[in-house]
Amino acid sequence: AGPSVPVCQAASNRPPRKPAVFIPVDRSPEIQEARLKLPILAEEQVIMEAVSENPIVIICGETGSGKTTQVPQFLYEAGYASSNGAIGITEPRRVAAVSMSQRVAKEMNLSDREVSYQIRYEGNVTDETQIKFMTDGVLLKEIQKDFLLSKYKVVIIDEAHERSMYTDILIGLLSRIVPLREKKGLPLKLIVMSATLRVEDFTDNNRLFSVTPPVIQVDARQFPVTVHFNKKTPLDDYSGECFRKVCKIHRMLPPGGILVFLTGQAEVHSLCRRLRKLTVIPLAVFVGGDDDKEESVEEIRKFKKSRKRKKVMALPKIDLDNYSVVPVDEGDEDRDAETDDDIAGSDIDLDLGDGDSEEDEKSDSSLPLYVLPLYSLLAPEKQAKVFRAPPPGTRLCVVATNVAETSLTIPGIKYVVDCGKVKKRFYDKITGVSSFRVTWISQASANQRAGRAGRTEPGHCYRLYSSAVFMDFEKFSAPEITKRPVEDLILQMKALNIEKVINFPFPTPPPTEALAAAEELLIALGALKEPPMMGRLTQQLAAKLSCPISPLGRIMATFPVAPRYAKMLALSRQHNCLPYTITIVSAMTVRELFEEFDRPAVSEEETAKLKGKKARLLQMQRIWAGQGPMQMLGDLMVMLGAVGACEYAGCTRKFCEENGLRYKAMLEIRRLRGQLTTAVNSVCTDAGLYVDPKMKPPTEAQATYLRQIVLAGLGDHVARRVQAEELLDDKWKNAYKTALLDDPVFIHPSSVLFKQLPEFVVYQEIVETTKLYMKGVSAVEPEWIPALLPPYCHFGKPLENPPPSYCPETGRIRCHRPSVFYRVSWQLPAVEV
Ligand code: ADP
Ligand code: MG
Repeated sequence: AGPSVPVCQAASNRPPRKPAVFIPVDRSPEIQEARLKLPILAEEQVIMEAVSENPIVIICGETGSGKTTQVPQFLYEAGYASSNGAIGITEPRRVAAVSMSQRVAKEMNLSDREVSYQIRYEGNVTDETQIKFMTDGVLLKEIQKDFLLSKYKVVIIDEAHERSMYTDILIGLLSRIVPLREKKGLPLKLIVMSATLRVEDFTDNNRLFSVTPPVIQVDARQFPVTVHFNKKTPLDDYSGECFRKVCKIHRMLPPGGILVFLTGQAEVHSLCRRLRKLTVIPLAVFVGGDDDKEESVEEIRKFKKSRKRKKVMALPKIDLDNYSVVPVDEGDEDRDAETDDDIAGSDIDLDLGDGDSEEDEKSDSSLPLYVLPLYSLLAPEKQAKVFRAPPPGTRLCVVATNVAETSLTIPGIKYVVDCGKVKKRFYDKITGVSSFRVTWISQASANQRAGRAGRTEPGHCYRLYSSAVFMDFEKFSAPEITKRPVEDLILQMKALNIEKVINFPFPTPPPTEALAAAEELLIALGALKEPPMMGRLTQQLAAKLSCPISPLGRIMATFPVAPRYAKMLALSRQHNCLPYTITIVSAMTVRELFEEFDRPAVSEEETAKLKGKKARLLQMQRIWAGQGPMQMLGDLMVMLGAVGACEYAGCTRKFCEENGLRYKAMLEIRRLRGQLTTAVNSVCTDAGLYVDPKMKPPTEAQATYLRQIVLAGLGDHVARRVQAEELLDDKWKNAYKTALLDDPVFIHPSSVLFKQLPEFVVYQEIVETTKLYMKGVSAVEPEWIPALLPPYCHFGKPLENPPPSYCPETGRIRCHRPSVFYRVSWQLPAVEV
C-alpha cells in the first residue's frame, strides 16, 4: 500500500524545461560518472520543477539514492545559493553533517569555504559559504536569533524518517516560517527528505501544512537482496553468532564487502579484534584497522630522537593490532550441526543456514579480511576509512552500530549481517532517569539494514533471528520526542516566545506529562515565570502551559547546554567561578570522559592490560579529586581536575591514553569551553572572560561556591541518605532517597564519594543497571537547600496521599515526595545567588 498523498510521477514524457539560471559546476570526470549512476539524477527535473512551483516539497528515496549529496547540488546549479542566501541542510547526526559537507565539496570541486558545516562544537562556515550542512540543533539556535532565517533561500531537513526531536520541531517551526517569508516577498523553500515513504505525520497533518506538499518518490533502483532468517530461536550471544556468520560468508561466498550491525562501541571493538585475531598475516601496508593508538611515524621519530640511548624502539613498528586475517573456524560451530534441507543443490550456497556449518571450502576465498569499525564516537579520520576502497586483494568487513543504517552509505557492500538489535537510551518521561537498553529493532530498521546489501549488485542479508521474531517487531520506532524529557526543547521554544507549547504544530506531540514535568522543572529553575497558583502544577494547569520565559530563562536559553547546566552558568559570575563552571558544564555535557576498562577481553594478556589501565585511572581520579573542601565537590572535582591536568599536559593523545581519558572527549570539552566562553561574553559584555586552558585549581572558598552553584542547577537532583531509623529493610542499606523516585538509589561505585556517603548529595544523572545508580555526584550542605531551592522544600509533614503517577514504560509507580527534605533547617546560609 502506497502513501495516501499525491506522488509526483517521473516526468519522462514532459518536455524538458530549461532552468532560468544555471550555475556551472566543474566536476571531475570520475565524479560525474559516479553521479550519473545515482537514481536521483533521473529525477532532477521533477524535483527542481516541484521546488520551483511549491514552497514545500517532500523527497523520499532509499538510502544511497543520492538525496543528501545531490539535492544541494541541483539547487546550487539552479541558482538557489547566492551571495544573499545559502542552502542549509540539517542532519540529526554530527557524523553525517561533517562527512556529507566534505563529500559535496569534493564532488563540486569547491573548497570548504563554500561548502561548509557547523556542528555544536565546530564548523568551517565563512562569508563565502553557499551550502551549509549542520546538525538540526544548530538551525534551531539560528531560528532563535533570526526567526525568519533570512540568510537561507532553501532549507533541507534531511533524514526526517529518523524523527529526531529537533528535526520534528524544525518542521513544525518551518511550517510557520515559510508562509511568513512568503508574505514578506522573500520566499523560502523547504525540502523534507526521508529514506522511507512513511511521511503521513508530515502530510496528513492539517495542523502542520495548510496545503499538502507534493511527495517525490525516487526510484531506488535497488538490487534485489535475498533475506535469510535464522531458524533457531535468537541467541543471546549475537556477537558470537555474528562472528561465525562473517567467517562463513568470507570462507564460502564470492567477493563483496560485509557489513555487520551490532549495538555498541564495545561490541564493535571486540568483534573487530576477534576477526583480526585469527590467522594473522602481518601486512605492513595496512594502516587500516581501527586502533586505539596510531602513533604517527613522525611522533615515533621524535620520541626516538629524545631518547637516543634507547635501542628498544627500532623502526616504526607495525602495530600488532593491524593485521590482515584469514578467518579460520573456531571449530565449535560444527559440533551441533543440523542438516539444512533448503540448501542442498546450489553450487555456492548463499543460505548459510543457522550458524551451522555445512561442508567447507566451497569457494575458499583466501583473501584477507580488511576489518574496520564504525560508530559515532569514532574519530572522523577513522570513520572516513570506510569510504575508501579496501587494499587490493582484500575483502572489506565493516563492523558498525546503527550509524550505518541510513546516515552513511558504505560502498561495495554485498552482505549484511544483522543482529536485529539496537542500543537505545530510554528515559523515564517524568524523572528523566535514563538507562541504555538493547532492544529489538523495528521492521522498518531491519529493512533499511537489509537494503545496505543491494546498492551495487544483488546482495544477501543474514538476519540472526527468525522470521517469527521479525513479525513481532514493531513496524516503526516511535519519534524521539515522545520518548525523552523535553525541558531543553521547551526552554528553546519559550525563548522563541511560543508560550502555549501545547498548541504548537508538532508532527507528533510529546506526551502531556512530559510537557508538564518540563514546565515544572523550568519554573523551579527560575527560567519560567511562576504560574498564578503556587505549588506543584496540576495536569490541567500544565496542559495550558503558558508560563512566559523570565529574564533568567532568556540568559539560560542562550547557552547551548541543558537548562540545568545553563542555570549554573547564569549564576557563576560570582567569586570568579565562571571558568570552573564552564569546565564542569562542558565535561558534564560531553559525557564519557573516562575510558571504559570493564569490557570483555579476548585474551588473558588483554585482561591484565585492562586491569592495569583501570588501576591507573582510579589512582589518577583520587588525585584529581583534590583535598579538603574540594573533595566534597566529588565527581565534578574529578572532572575539573582531569580537564585541568590534561590541558596542562597540552591535551595530547599520549597523556589521555596513559591516564585513561578519552582523547576525543577531551578535545570536545576544549571546544565547548571556548564556545561557552564566547556565549558568556555575549551575555555579559563586561565579563571579559577568556579561557585559559591551564587554569589553577579552585580555592577552597571557590570549591564551596561551586557546590552551591551546582546545587542550584541540579535542584531536582538532590538526594538524602537514608537514616538508620528509616532503614526499612536491607535493600535500603547505604541507599539515598530522591525527590522523584520511591525506590532506593545508590552512589555509583565509580564515584569518588562512593565510600564517603555524604548526607546530602546532588547527582548529574541516575542510570539504571542492576540498581538505580547516581553518577556525577557532589556533596551539598542541607542549610543551602531552602535558600537555593525554595520550590523543592516542604517544611510540614509529608503529604498523606501524594498524587501517584504511573510510568507505563518502566512499570514503576511513583509519587512526588516533598517529605524528602522536610528535615532541613531554616537557618539561612551565607550564599549570594
Ligand atoms: P542518500 O542521502 O540518498 O542516502 P547519499 O547522497 O548519502 O545518498 O549517497 C549517494 C552516494 O554517494 C552513495 O552511493 C555513497 O556511497 C556515495 N558517497 C557518499 N559519501 C561518500 C564519501 N564520503 N565517499 C565516497 N562515496 C560517498
Ligand atoms: Mg542521506
